[in-house]
Amino acid sequence: MSILVVGSVAFDSVETPFGKAEDVLGGSATYFSTSASYFTDVKLVAVVGEDFPEEHITGLKEKGIDLAGLKKVPGKTFRWKGRYDYDLNQAHTLETHLNVFSAFNPEVPESYKDSPFVFLANIDPELQMKVLEQVKRPKLIACDTMNFWIEGKPDALRKLLKGVDLFVINEGEAREFSGQASLVKAAKEILACGPKTLIIKRGEYGALMFNGGSMFSAPAYPLEEIFDPTGAGDSFAGGLMGYLANTGDLSEDNIRKAIIFGSVMASFNVEAFSLNRLKTLTLPEIKARYSEFKRLTHFEDI
Ligand code: AMP
Repeated sequence: MSILVVGSVAFDSVETPFGKAEDVLGGSATYFSTSASYFTDVKLVAVVGEDFPEEHITGLKEKGIDLAGLKKVPGKTFRWKGRYDYDLNQAHTLETHLNVFSAFNPEVPESYKDSPFVFLANIDPELQMKVLEQVKRPKLIACDTMNFWIEGKPDALRKLLKGVDLFVINEGEAREFSGQASLVKAAKEILACGPKTLIIKRGEYGALMFNGGSMFSAPAYPLEEIFDPTGAGDSFAGGLMGYLANTGDLSEDNIRKAIIFGSVMASFNVEAFSLNRLKTLTLPEIKARYSEFKRLTHFEDI
């Protein structure tokens, strides 16, 4: 089953203790779509400026991503500049330039409207809402956000969450959104806003799922080399949603497997800057790392 995604397509400038990259391809929807493209058909809604090179468009097309909903308009592409210190779990935003996104009015192409899976990747919650208003009732609506929007558009975000089934958010942002230090209390508050399922991304500590009364904790893959955590959250969401859409199964057992596929995709993504690792993966590599996760976390009952 296909996934419709709306989010940012961007130029990122990133500095980590291990190197830097200037004006490289990034954006929440770019990472998400590339990751999900290994599992299912992806239809992208976003906007770029005239400065967005054809080679990036070709690269996305080569991953089989449907770009009927990607608009190129006069102006500059969204730009994000960030820095990571040795704590790679914490991105420090230095600059955010919305550029063409500030006047964007998303129009969902007719061929996208009955997508059974919808992912509202990190972007202005008002744009996420405009997309949601144009689709026919999907099987699953999932959403991500970040501190920039939690602080900048809290009311729009709360309104959006009422119509969301699955919310994916990182640890610091879950605490900020709920005003709770305990993740369990934070989860209760967030679930009370609408979503049935909440997944809290915890960087190198993995991910925590709250679904009805049950909890599931997945580790992150212990890597020897980490170059750039940018896009880890979006590639996690791409693997998660990609697997759910591929199987069409929303049982808790299957969501647990999907979380591991998400963790697999995020672990590959952080091995290189931009999408350099994510875009060259093969299915056997993805499956092999999934099996390593199984061995990593397996223990016998008492
Ligand atoms: P993450 O997966 O959380 O590391 O997200 C990284 C991506 O988010 C980067 O490639 C940025 O271009 C994008 N990004 C950063 N800030 C924003 C924002 N305020 N709205 C939308 N996308 C953003």
